[in-house]
Amino acid sequence: MNIPRLPSSVTLVAVTKTFPADAIIEAFALGVRYFGENYVEEFEKKYANIPQEIKDNATFHMIGHVQSRKAGDVVRLFHWVDSVDSVKLARKLSDAAVRQGRSLSILLEVNVAGEATKFGFDPQTLQQSVDEIIKLPNLRVEGLMVMPPQVENPEENREVFKNAKQLLDELSSRLAGRHLSMGTSQDYRVAIEEGSTMVRLGEAIFGPRQLPK
Ligand SMILES: *Cc1c(COP(=O)(O)O)cnc(C)c1O
Repeated sequence: MNIPRLPSSVTLVAVTKTFPADAIIEAFALGVRYFGENYVEEFEKKYANIPQEIKDNATFHMIGHVQSRKAGDVVRLFHWVDSVDSVKLARKLSDAAVRQGRSLSILLEVNVAGEATKFGFDPQTLQQSVDEIIKLPNLRVEGLMVMPPQVENPEENREVFKNAKQLLDELSSRLAGRHLSMGTSQDYRVAIEEGSTMVRLGEAIFGPRQLPK
């Protein structure tokens, strides 16, 4: 059963990794307010070239793997971390947020398909991790994030998206939000049909990236 989705129920996060600050400036002018970046150093350089008006009105999401030692930089530069993949990282982010007097929204990245090469919580032990993370100060756990396998046909990931939605529904009473970040350029249509509230689109908006990833 596919329930029709209202456009306002899905947030577009424009993924600007490898693209210059101008990509953010142009997209902002067209109405985009949410941006995703994967690499702290890359974004830090770009940030210097982003006008203050955009910094004041846009929301920046970290969507790539974060090393714990970068927690301070991440809290300084980003409003959300969508890729929290361990209790240890959550603790470091919480500590940094307390030190900086900021509050940070986070999503817990879940390795729904159980891929050995992927970061993310194991769905089996997610509950326990949530118990620990929701107690940490200055963090708001807004929901879950999923990065499914690379596939030829997006239909192959429908099951992964369904499972992610089910996990969210099981946990949602304990979380601060009900967000489910899933869907990239290759599979966002299927992800939205299965309950995504946040899609992360790069190439569908900005065209092919020169560098891999
Ligand atoms: C690069 C990236 C995206 C965007 O991928 P596109 O194929 O350009 O839409 C989304 N999510 C994550 C975690 C990414 O690293």
